[in-house]
Amino acid sequence: MTQEKIAMVGTPCEIMAASKIQHYTTSPIYFKVGLFCMENFSYKYFNKLLEEYDLSMDEIEKFRIEKGYTFLKLKTGEIIKIPLSKAKTVVRKNCNICVELTSETSDVSVGSIGSEPGWSTVIIRTEKGEKIIEDAIKQKYLKAKELTPSQLKLLERIASNKARENSENIEYRESKARPVLYQRDKTDENILEEISESNFDDLRANVINVGACVLCGACEYVCPEDLILIKNTKPRKKRKSCPADCHTCFAVCPRTFVPLKLRNDLKKKIGNYRKILTVKSLTHNRGQDGVVVTTILDYLISTNKVTQTLIIDKKENMPWKPIAKLTKDVDEIVKASGTKYSVCPVFKPLKQLKRDVV
Ligand SMILES: Cc1cc2nc3c(=O)[nH]c(=O)nc-3n(C[C@H](O)[C@H](O)[C@H](O)COP(=O)(O)OP(=O)(O)OC[C@H]3O[C@@H](n4cnc5c(N)ncnc54)[C@H](O)[C@@H]3O)c2cc1C
Ligand code: SF4
Ligand code: SF4
Ligand code: SF4
Repeated sequence: MTQEKIAMVGTPCEIMAASKIQHYTTSPIYFKVGLFCMENFSYKYFNKLLEEYDLSMDEIEKFRIEKGYTFLKLKTGEIIKIPLSKAKTVVRKNCNICVELTSETSDVSVGSIGSEPGWSTVIIRTEKGEKIIEDAIKQKYLKAKELTPSQLKLLERIASNKARENSENIEYRESKARPVLYQRDKTDENILEEISESNFDDLRANVINVGACVLCGACEYVCPEDLILIKNTKPRKKRKSCPADCHTCFAVCPRTFVPLKLRNDLKKKIGNYRKILTVKSLTHNRGQDGVVVTTILDYLISTNKVTQTLIIDKKENMPWKPIAKLTKDVDEIVKASGTKYSVCPVFKPLKQLKRDVV
């Protein structure tokens, strides 16, 4: 077993996958920074949408979604506004059945909703998360203020709206196609029974082929036989056969059944938490909002709380195409700041780590 302690950052679906990996396997994931996430986009179709505006990805300096628009800040300084209703036509299909806004199974969740520009809202969920944020504030990496009741109300309202709208989409989808497994209310005992009868073929039928796959790469990472490959858009199995007693890919997928301790309670609008703050970095100034994620990761590496961080940078030869990287280099963490509105298999680099320790 590796001695690595990894801090990762991810959207709610990726954090759910990480939590299931921690629940069902031994894992080097030590600290989870979850992002808020309303929706995500298809890289290919977002490119096509930009063509309508006579633009390409490499002209864009920063994306920002607020107040019903996608704002594109161009490298020339010009700001282009695309109505969110238009951008929503290129949202990934799996996002329409996602009921979670705030990464409820993280150690700390970070997003812009609720905070003023240049600050991030931070939901502290675990004892470990609380200690780390308190210490980062004490050591002057971060500064923090209380969230006001009206800021909290706004966040709760937006989270409830997402859950309500996408619950309706789930109902509609289930009336036409297979059940959306991650929303099934089952006992842990029943879930284990389902898992014991399921393998990659069931994942393909219930998640991948019905447009529920979030492309997180958890299945690819955990496969002990190295049978699963994500190259472009979908996980594929390289060979037909599977060892009869292995069900791990089905167990860890964020879109299959969720054990009770990780399941979203839709009555709790933003999940369980210990504290909620509005936070800003004191050490970094180039990021999406308060540069809080970058600063937490810098603090964790610089104080040796973790051995590596799992971050999402941009691919060298494809502007704004996300790529997951494992790094202990603070300059790399800083370079990866800012939001990329698309997906990549976030767990892919952990596979290398697994191989390194064999
Ligand atoms: C797809 C997506 C949708 C989002 N939607 C919302 C929303 O609706 N409302 C809201 O309040 N906030 C949303 N966020 C979060 C918000 O954009 C900021 O990431 C968050 O406020 C943290 O800002 P920061 O300045 O602290 O982060 P920074 O210090 O700039 O760090 C950003 C971190 O995000 C990671 N990252 C970048 N892109 C991705 C990605 N595609 N997947 C996983 N990790 C990534 C990077 O590794 C980096 O470490 C979304 C984020 C993503 C990735
Ligand atoms: S499924 Fe889509 S909306 Fe939900 S957390 Fe993942 S990327 Fe965000
Ligand atoms: S060996 Fe296990 S993890 Fe790999 S594809 Fe088969 S069932 Fe899934
Ligand atoms: S099928 Fe694999 S890549 Fe897709 S959501 Fe499930 S675990 Fe993630």
